[in-house]
Amino acid sequence: MHQLKNIAENVKVCQNCKLCETRTNAVPGKGNFDADVIFVGEAPGRNEDIHGEPFVGAAGKRLDEILEDTGIDREDVYITNIVKCRPPNNRIPSKEEEMACVDFINQEIEIIDPKIICVMGNTAYGTLLGGKEITKNHGKIIEKDGKKFFATFHPAATIYNQKLVGELKKDFRKLAEFLEDGRQIKQFEDRRCDFCMAKTKHEVVIIPKVVTRKRKWLFKCTECNHERWLQPYRTVAESLY
Ligand code: URA
Repeated sequence: MHQLKNIAENVKVCQNCKLCETRTNAVPGKGNFDADVIFVGEAPGRNEDIHGEPFVGAAGKRLDEILEDTGIDREDVYITNIVKCRPPNNRIPSKEEEMACVDFINQEIEIIDPKIICVMGNTAYGTLLGGKEITKNHGKIIEKDGKKFFATFHPAATIYNQKLVGELKKDFRKLAEFLEDGRQIKQFEDRRCDFCMAKTKHEVVIIPKVVTRKRKWLFKCTECNHERWLQPYRTVAESLY
């Protein structure tokens, strides 16, 4: 059995704290086991408690909207909570409840070993980074114990405070840029080099408009390393842009 499935089974029967007495279902993390990013919330709410899955209620809907806006696919990420059982009336989990559960999140992080861990809201920020106010550090990458964390608001906070929607979207775009950076794949095209005249593969580097004002491509001959700037014309690379 995959180690994460094993953790999920342990979560489902966990009795480490009193929340097991009031829960309908414990809510293990869910998503892609090879994810580049783990999203960490606080604790399940009413809908999550009913369905046994994280972020399937109103906060989940907001998270889905923002992921879609950013071009991040929910199927590519892993979503979990600090505390795996619903605190009665959705109160903030106590420190004891967080500590009773913290081994699970630490194990999830160790096994997935993502590029970055996105902590959403004060509970996740406090438990994983010892931080107090997310408002001061949201949108930042924070390094701790050799791991990268990204701090942002809890999606539920944007339901009560509409002004935060824009802030959360901006933060998620920053996170997406960080994830994109690591994903750039080298592109090549067959061309005759203007310099050495050999017909070789040219590495194509696309320079975005935001940098040069005009979109430009840099063709590098893999034979003689000659570099030539070109305005784009329609090729395979165009569709990549
Ligand atoms: N809020 C959370 O922090 N987690 C959920 O799964 C749902 C709402």
